[in-house]
Amino acid sequence: MAIQLSAEQFESIRSHGVREYPNECCGMLLGRTDGEAKEVSEVVALRNLRHDPARAEELLPLEDPGRESEKNRFLIDPLEQLRVERDARERGLDVLGYYHSHPDHPARPSNYDREHAWPWYSYVILSVEQGEASEMTSWVLSEDRARFDAELLKL
Ligand SMILES: [Zn+2]
Repeated sequence: MAIQLSAEQFESIRSHGVREYPNECCGMLLGRTDGEAKEVSEVVALRNLRHDPARAEELLPLEDPGRESEKNRFLIDPLEQLRVERDARERGLDVLGYYHSHPDHPARPSNYDREHAWPWYSYVILSVEQGEASEMTSWVLSEDRARFDAELLKL
């Protein structure tokens, strides 16, 4: 499977990552699957709930708060996620995946990313180096959840 983004969608993820730097940005990718490709029709920017540490801790406590923060963790509000999913379904769109940024880190999934991912969905990662958008990659979790495989990101 490959994931297809328009130049405009590609730019909107990059600018979201730059806007949120040095924190992680996150969002959802909606669209349709056409044979072997996931065709993105909408990029939905979401709020990183880690900006609200008290609420985030209630939902998903950090294992190592000294080392983890909104700078290297993102958390999507489950209510917001449900709302986006429901709204997408009503318009005949599917959730194809999620995106987030890695401020000053490579565009490769972390162990944390793997532990909080589901198979089939695309996980797009944008590296933001010193405030500038850098490499963007896409990953799919293997069925046994053991590893992420790189996915072709088409523009
Ligand atoms: Zn990550």
